[in-house]
Amino acid sequence: MAPDGVVVDMMSLENKRRGTTVLWSWSLGHYADVGGQQLWIDVLEETLKHGVAPVSWTDYLYLTVGGTLSNAGISGETFRYGPQISNVYEMDVITGTGDFLTCSPDKNPELFYSVLGGLGQFGIITRARIALGQAPKRVKWVRMLYSDFSDFTIDQESLISHHGRDQDEALDYVEGSLLMHRNSDSWTSFFSLSDRQRLMSLVTEHELLYCIEVAKFYDGRTQTTVDKALEIILKDLSHVPEFMFEKDVAYVDFLNRVRVEELKLRRQGLWNVPHPWLNLFVPKSRIADFNTGVFNNIVLKKNITTGLVLIYPMNNDKWDDRMSAVIPDEDVFYTVGFLHSSGFEDWQEFDLQNKEVLLFCENNGIKVKQYLPNYNTEREWMEHFGSKWRTFQESKAQFDPKMLLSPGQRIFNHN
Ligand SMILES: Cc1cc2nc3c(=O)[nH]c(=O)nc-3n(C[C@H](O)[C@H](O)[C@H](O)COP(=O)(O)OP(=O)(O)OC[C@H]3O[C@@H](n4cnc5c(N)ncnc54)[C@H](O)[C@@H]3O)c2cc1C
Repeated sequence: MAPDGVVVDMMSLENKRRGTTVLWSWSLGHYADVGGQQLWIDVLEETLKHGVAPVSWTDYLYLTVGGTLSNAGISGETFRYGPQISNVYEMDVITGTGDFLTCSPDKNPELFYSVLGGLGQFGIITRARIALGQAPKRVKWVRMLYSDFSDFTIDQESLISHHGRDQDEALDYVEGSLLMHRNSDSWTSFFSLSDRQRLMSLVTEHELLYCIEVAKFYDGRTQTTVDKALEIILKDLSHVPEFMFEKDVAYVDFLNRVRVEELKLRRQGLWNVPHPWLNLFVPKSRIADFNTGVFNNIVLKKNITTGLVLIYPMNNDKWDDRMSAVIPDEDVFYTVGFLHSSGFEDWQEFDLQNKEVLLFCENNGIKVKQYLPNYNTEREWMEHFGSKWRTFQESKAQFDPKMLLSPGQRIFNHN
């Protein structure tokens, strides 16, 4: 990952006591100063001691703060609170020129906006000051199944249209996924053994089902009203009748849900395997074409897809265009994540399918943006960044002119 570059042992910062410190001010309310090497699970554990927690998450918490802020940091909370990069007040960054700079929207703003979503190109994030909210105690966690794609997207889009921070009628989390026989190992665990049978019959009948997954958080203050609030939010949805499943779990268990799957896969020797992933942002106006061309024609026909396939919408106005992260130019766009896991012998098949998906989009004028982008040529990177390319290049020249940082992204360092 770092030919002719540098590898930094971020965990050595732990010795410098760069953990998580919870603070409060009149202007920001609660916030945390967090070491760039910290895992989000550590941040969660420390902030919960103070009854507060970050508002925007990733699905998996054993990722570093510096690592996710270099991409965006997305999950089911993004529609409401924006990605993790939208919840940062300030950072300490060691640039490629060796300068140690504090940056924020007011102080060294070029560095601040470049680094957020900047794929590690400009500096090493050693500290981030992140927004916190009151931590809920528990979560109503619901999944609903759809056989009709249009019903599925109409409902998802309606659910994310309530996104005010203080709105009672807003959900706290909205995601979605594809359910097929082929990838059933990745999605059945949520459902009780007794529900699985009728669920599998429905999958057999339709081949492909769409699942909306939502959550409403609550605490002692709202525990008597949360059920009613959720009922009102979900009352007009068009999921398959009788195919709505609800759980009530602790907040920490909800946030750390992928860990349970990880430990299971580790026990089976299926965690440390190749992951030929493809993550895309797809404009809302073309998501139906994407469904037909990609899910129905490529994915179902090839029938190799293992692992989760995520699909959920987000609101463009929760992102900050000054940051390096790139998203489609529409008010609402979907993230589609093919989280494939493969064997050591057959990963090329998945790579080929990923290429086919990208080619389909290109040939049909679907202007997708890759999340966690992977390109080889400068032309492709220029297209990816679009109007942000010039700023991205200028920031590179200013903050890492010797091109030492993250050459493995192959943006400026080509073979
Ligand atoms: C199992 C799994 C689940 C995931 N789920 C999600 C998800 O739900 N949502 C989501 O948004 N993403 C998700 N990701 C992707 C994740 O955001 C990126 O892989 C991110 O880079 C992970 O951070 P890391 O700590 O593992 O980074 P590393 O693998 O250590 O680093 C990756 C790159 O990030 C940059 N980087 C890392 N740390 C710093 C730093 N301190 N300063 C500057 N640059 C840095 C560098 O370019 C580095 O090469 C997931 C990844 C995995 C493996």
